[in-house]
Amino acid sequence: MINVVIFGPPGAGKGTQSDKLIQKYGFVHISTGDLFRWHTKNETALGKRVKEIMNSGALVPDEITIAMLKEELDKNPKAAGFLFDGFPRTVPQAEALDKFMKENGSAIHHVIALDVTEEEVRSRIAKRRTIENRADDEDEKLNKRIMEYFGKTIHVLPYYEKQNRLKTINGIGSVEKISGEIAQALDAK
Ligand code: AMP
Repeated sequence: MINVVIFGPPGAGKGTQSDKLIQKYGFVHISTGDLFRWHTKNETALGKRVKEIMNSGALVPDEITIAMLKEELDKNPKAAGFLFDGFPRTVPQAEALDKFMKENGSAIHHVIALDVTEEEVRSRIAKRRTIENRADDEDEKLNKRIMEYFGKTIHVLPYYEKQNRLKTINGIGSVEKISGEIAQALDAK
């Protein structure tokens, strides 16, 4: 079984494509964003530490994020394959993930990057905003998240590219077309 990272900016369609991949391949889905939201909602000690950071749209420090991810991996020792969504977002996170997978005699086999430009993301969000009439603080947070992606997270891609593990897929198009291309990349020998 394979382990996959799905990568892309906010609004790229990672959530939609993750659902399709889970259905098709039966991955154990690890979304660090979902895990952090669970912790803040349930007011755990970790949740209290990260609440303000998340509310601002900034990245949670690596040390906290990596420890949470490791705990999640340890909870699933028998997983046939993982789909990582929203992790890694920095090079130290990518290195930690490789180390953990290696310790389990496994590896990250594919990194699927949904390619959507900053301009397209902003235009999608602007459209959504006119429909949903979102609050200003939400706008600010989203803006910060987009800046975090294009300022920091995108620098993880060369890490995987150098090791020939990166497959970039055009994130603009129908859900079916994109999921078909992802499946092709994953099934390729
Ligand atoms: P997401 O739903 O993946 O966009 O994540 C929501 C928020 O959780 C982000 O804006 C960050 O504050 C935090 N977060 C999620 N994953 C990570 C990560 N890998 N590294 C740092 N912060 C993260």
